[in-house]
Amino acid sequence: PKTAYVRTKPHLNIGTMGHVDHGKTTLTAAITKVLAERGSGTFVPFDRIDKAPEEAQRGITINIAHVEYETDTRHYAHVDMPGHADYVKNMVTGAAQLDGAILVVSALDGIMPQTAEHVLLARQVGVDHIVVALNKADAGDDELTDLVELEVRELLSAHGYGGDSVPVVRVSGLRALEGDPRWAAAVEALLDAVDTYVPMPERYVDAPFLLSVENVLTISGRGTVVTGAVERGRVRVGDRVRVYGTEALKDAETVVTGVETFGKPMEEAQAGDNVALLLRGVPRDAVRRGHVVAEPGSVRPARRFTAQVYVLSAKEGGRSTPLSTGYRPQFYLRTADVVGDVDLGEAGVARPGETVTMTVELGRDVPLEAGLGFAIREGGRTVGAGTVSAVLM
Ligand code: GDP
Ligand code: MG
Repeated sequence: PKTAYVRTKPHLNIGTMGHVDHGKTTLTAAITKVLAERGSGTFVPFDRIDKAPEEAQRGITINIAHVEYETDTRHYAHVDMPGHADYVKNMVTGAAQLDGAILVVSALDGIMPQTAEHVLLARQVGVDHIVVALNKADAGDDELTDLVELEVRELLSAHGYGGDSVPVVRVSGLRALEGDPRWAAAVEALLDAVDTYVPMPERYVDAPFLLSVENVLTISGRGTVVTGAVERGRVRVGDRVRVYGTEALKDAETVVTGVETFGKPMEEAQAGDNVALLLRGVPRDAVRRGHVVAEPGSVRPARRFTAQVYVLSAKEGGRSTPLSTGYRPQFYLRTADVVGDVDLGEAGVARPGETVTMTVELGRDVPLEAGLGFAIREGGRTVGAGTVSAVLM
């Protein structure tokens, strides 16, 4: 029998962000190594994080790798995203649900375009706390590293992160991974900074249960499993839930027959937890990424809404030309990806860099509510980030 997950420490979701090749995956592996040596977690090697081999075999699109670890005071789920596009998609849609982020900046290269983009996007999706890992400090010289630190603090201040007070820790993921005690200590210092600087977020554990489906798996002999982060509420074995978004089920109400986190059964999952839920009598193909599993009656699927939208500028990776009424991009709402028609009202156009009000009609019903954040994407890039102001029935 598997050992159960025992909730002894508060749980937070964090992740590495930053420009490609600045060392996000190496640092992620190094963190698990340093903590494993302290006896609080399992070492996850670079290749396991970067290639996520188990999931690739099952033919699932991988765009996010989770590792878990514990510090003295907290339990963390840590996400490392392989590519820039994955980062944007998972961050902006809230699929990653980060409570805080580790911004990895190579001390050799300094701020690069994706460094700036990720800071901007983190701000837009409501990540309020960033800790900086000045990586590759083993290979840089002190003067240059000082300069990079200054530059990073300025970038953070420019985006409202209070660059003067943000912890900046000089690390070498690579040397820590190789077992060098000096750099292992630096990684510990980084984790201490995360522990103290990223506050425990408010969790809506008393709200009705809701989970937006990230992945669907079949466990032979047991049935269909959905995975994702619990957005709000609590769930336990025996609870009645409804699958919102499916058309393949006659009765979309079902019962949760298993709750696990990182392969360990748990008595009760709550807001903020990354979980797998086993659903009774739900065929594999009846549920997919983007569907919402929630307490029956607690959400209202709809397709029309008004929203406030920030249109990214070309410098931020967005469009260089305005968008206008009749525009039909993809809307990323929670884990769903739905086409939608944009109506810009009297103004009729929205220029890159502007914040505008729009009415949207989605191609299908999804659970909507005021305050829900979303991203607008076109041809694989993010062109806007918005918030639902009102749902139109
Ligand atoms: P990612 O794209 O941000 O995930 O970067 P990776 O973790 O894949 O690392 C990119 C390259 O930088 C690899 O060749 C690593 O070995 C190298 N690297 C990562 N961390 C360090 C470090 O602390 N010091 C040095 N010298 N090289 C590093
Ligand atoms: Mg990587």
